[in-house]
Amino acid sequence: MKPLSVYIHIPYCEHKCVYCDFYSVINFKNQSEYLRAIKKEIRFYAERFRNQFFVKTIFFGGGTPSLMKTGYISEILNELSNNFNVNEDSEITLETNPGTVNRSKLNDFRSIGINRLSVGVQSFDDNDLKFLTRIHTKKDAVQTVLDAAGIGFENISLDMIFNLPGQTKEKWLKNLRAAVELPVKHISAYSLILERGTILNKWVLDGKVKIGDKDYDADLYEITQRYLISNGFLQYEVSNFAKPGFECVHNNQYWNYGDYLGLGTAAHSFVNNKRWWNYKSLTFYLKSMSEKGEASAGSEILNNKERVEEFVMLALRSSGLNIEALKNDFDAQWINKNQDKLSKFQNLGLLDIDDKFIRLTEKGYALCDEMLAEFE
Ligand code: SF4
Repeated sequence: MKPLSVYIHIPYCEHKCVYCDFYSVINFKNQSEYLRAIKKEIRFYAERFRNQFFVKTIFFGGGTPSLMKTGYISEILNELSNNFNVNEDSEITLETNPGTVNRSKLNDFRSIGINRLSVGVQSFDDNDLKFLTRIHTKKDAVQTVLDAAGIGFENISLDMIFNLPGQTKEKWLKNLRAAVELPVKHISAYSLILERGTILNKWVLDGKVKIGDKDYDADLYEITQRYLISNGFLQYEVSNFAKPGFECVHNNQYWNYGDYLGLGTAAHSFVNNKRWWNYKSLTFYLKSMSEKGEASAGSEILNNKERVEEFVMLALRSSGLNIEALKNDFDAQWINKNQDKLSKFQNLGLLDIDDKFIRLTEKGYALCDEMLAEFE
């Protein structure tokens, strides 16, 4: 049996943050129907895949999964266990927003099997948080992490955003310092992305808000790498840093070209080389679940060239390209075809190459996209 990662999208939020383009709704009235649909979707895919896969990781993302009652999350976990072979030591992550949980609720989440929290802190500066229209303060964020650690969560991750308007290098460093002082094992640090259709994007287009240019962004990225690495975190993906042994198993499954099943609105799946994606809209998702018992809005099967490109891209962005796997399972000629470029990037100090792996160096992570664009 092969490992499978399961992602469950919980599309509810208290309000819509100005920068966010994840699918979420602020109307909670369809919650029970959504739960029934997720359980039905689990049964649908279990019939097809239960004999081929065991579940290695489960990830509740959103939206704001931590807004849901513990019983809600627990019913989904039970449905998975009743229909799939779920590994006893599976990594089970819940995205958690400060301001939506207290000690008692965190304790309840732990008691139903959640063993990893991904906390959406974004910044430890109250002005940044106000600007981003987050519902929490710095104090809430610190309290959430301390409460979680206090009741026994050992695997806590923080999401942080850099290059916010007016964010000096000192301010960002202060944020990183606040993060590493907490009992956390994993930090995801992303540059602020302007997504089309968001309020923030309109503010920038209208000239009401200015964000740092590409060079400034690169400086903040370098500060992030230096600071986190010198504080005991390993960089194992372009935007992800972990204490040894605490790399996110779920995300590694994506990046290692593994199989994953996405359930709920807007979720993506990739199983047995087929990729498909669910309806984004809650209304369409529920309608499709009720009429067809599944909710895929489209699908594709990658051709050979796409498979190779995808494998190389995911591997290089994360823990490195396994040369034997590349040759045996994807393209025996890829190294030969790209030898000149590989040597050039190695000489520039962007790649580390040995007999078994091709890996990005610290400097290489910053230029990953540029390098990938050059490979054939
Ligand atoms: S809480 Fe998260 S998912 Fe919800 S609107 Fe804000 S950023 Fe988006």
